[in-house]
Amino acid sequence: MENIIDKWSFGVIAGPCSIEAYEPLYATALELKKRGIKMLRGGAYKLRTSVHSFRGLGDAGIHHLSKVGKDLGLITVSECTQIDKVEFMAQNIDILVVGTRNMHNYPLLERLGKIGAPVILKRGIASTYDEWLAAAEYIMESGNERVILCERGIRTFEPETRYTLDISAISVMKKKSGLPVIIDPSHAAGSRYLVPSLALAAVAAGADGLMIECQINPCESICDASQTIEPEMLSRIMECVPHLQQEYLKILS
Ligand code: PEP
Ligand code: MN
Repeated sequence: MENIIDKWSFGVIAGPCSIEAYEPLYATALELKKRGIKMLRGGAYKLRTSVHSFRGLGDAGIHHLSKVGKDLGLITVSECTQIDKVEFMAQNIDILVVGTRNMHNYPLLERLGKIGAPVILKRGIASTYDEWLAAAEYIMESGNERVILCERGIRTFEPETRYTLDISAISVMKKKSGLPVIIDPSHAAGSRYLVPSLALAAVAAGADGLMIECQINPCESICDASQTIEPEMLSRIMECVPHLQQEYLKILS
């Protein structure tokens, strides 16, 4: 567990968009663990566009995720949306996430720079590479160098997909920052049928990891059901990873 966090090596983070209750989270996590997943995601504080949408279980969700992680020996990953939750989350969750809507929340970034836990910094939906890098520097200059960048799609003129996955971001940001760059194909796609191709394209382009929304009954997800995949599909994606990584390394050498 320490190794994965201290020296990031290729990793797949999977789990539901939002934590809905303890039992379904445990059932999904168990299935994911059987399929070789070591990092479990789940959101507790959801920043929804509509105030009428499910906005997560809050602190109770974090307690559920922490317990499932401990019970199954999984690394836990969850989004921190506000400064006054940083300490509580750092005590209970292994890797904290800054979501796309908070990439420019500099006080939050500075506060996350004061903790020891790694931070996944998602790219703002309309942020340039340099703005994204500057946001990462807010965390690192505050004392936390364990930053992992996550490309999750940017807003373009194309309405067919939820966002547009920027594959160039992988090589450009690895070169500019020296930080690991992972890909979230789920939020870029918005539809589950697109998730495998985006995930595999990312691996072939040198991504250092994937964060994918996955649960045992994807269609029943309260949040982001349309882009959530089944564990079986996740396994098929993971089977292709070693070969694509080898091909990528061959091209580099
Ligand atoms: C999420 O990962 O559940 C999420 C809300 O992502 P993003 O911040 O990229 O929209
Ligand atoms: Mn989601």
